[in-house]
Amino acid sequence: MIYLDNAGTTKPLEVVSDKMAKIQQENFYNASATYDMARKSRDIINRAKDSLAKKLGTISSNIIFTSCATEANNQIINALVDSNKNSEYIFSEGEHPSVYNVGLQLKNKGKIVKFIPLNKDGKINEEKLLESVTENTKFVSIICVSNETGAINDIPRLVKLIKAKNKNVFVHSDCVQAFSKIDINVRKWDIDAITISAHKINGPKGIGALYVKNLNKLKPLLVGGGQENNLRSGTENIEAIAGFEVAINDIDLSYQSNILEMKQYIVNELTTKLKDDVILVSDDNCVPNIISVIFKNLKGEVFQHFLDQNGVMVGRGSACSSKKAGNRVLESMGYDKNEVIGNIRISLNKLNTMNEIVDATKIIIEKFLELKQRMSL
Ligand code: PLP
Repeated sequence: MIYLDNAGTTKPLEVVSDKMAKIQQENFYNASATYDMARKSRDIINRAKDSLAKKLGTISSNIIFTSCATEANNQIINALVDSNKNSEYIFSEGEHPSVYNVGLQLKNKGKIVKFIPLNKDGKINEEKLLESVTENTKFVSIICVSNETGAINDIPRLVKLIKAKNKNVFVHSDCVQAFSKIDINVRKWDIDAITISAHKINGPKGIGALYVKNLNKLKPLLVGGGQENNLRSGTENIEAIAGFEVAINDIDLSYQSNILEMKQYIVNELTTKLKDDVILVSDDNCVPNIISVIFKNLKGEVFQHFLDQNGVMVGRGSACSSKKAGNRVLESMGYDKNEVIGNIRISLNKLNTMNEIVDATKIIIEKFLELKQRMSL
């Protein structure tokens, strides 16, 4: 089987799994306890936070670990909601459900929520975004790299433009698909908060992180024993944190050029061999590891199962929403429902090899042509 659904999740590196197994046996102690071995657990957390802070261009005291990015996204949005009925909250239509659905929840509670559409290239419509920012805008959340298409929003530029209109706006970016793919420097970006997740970077599931420039603005989502400076109670997931650190230290942005070669191979083959039967949703400006393609006149769901039976695992957008009809993100980009039905997401990782890509592309093309022929009979 060839795994090409790496935007859904990635395989943990072997060194990550080894480290976690070791920590689970040797350093399982509660990091909040006061005996010496517990202090070692605390050191592991502190070291991991330092490694992450260094990668993000900040200091560790501005980071809290959470159980996942979904939790981090929920926490930051809910922390910023106030009781002022005039406060406005802005989200892009390209957000992951862990942001978008919180926006919908706020709207249903009677808050003023604005959803900003996307351009055909998958980026947020900058003009509409800036028109929407007013003196009452409290919070803006814009995804950095789309989990559906790989489109990259220029977050530092958007932060500057938003703050030029209203300097008090709190700007957050979901950087889950951006981390390890593009350079993130929260200080240079001048952003108020970002979220990331370990399982998208060959780390373990069940661990995420939230960077916040001013932690005083953050409120706990979970209340309890007061871990993470009272901002995220619950016994720290020490082995996952240690595994996360190993994955962080393995990040090498220069590897993206190898992934780009794989993307170019897939794109060339699909567009030259299937021609008008495919629409390439992800353009050259997207991150190289995500290729969103529309296969015309067939159901993506059917094609995905067929590929699965034939040795290739691909995705269909956000795993959390892939069972629902339609695709909010592609529809916001202007694709019609008939086109969206045929969408497949091929997503790559540093653990993929060029041989796998050649084999998988051959299978994708052959199986598409086979399905097409069957349907025309
Ligand atoms: N944000 C984006 C852009 C994602 O792709 C995902 C995962 O699919 C999440 C948030 C949620 O991450 P987690 O699985 O850690 O909750």
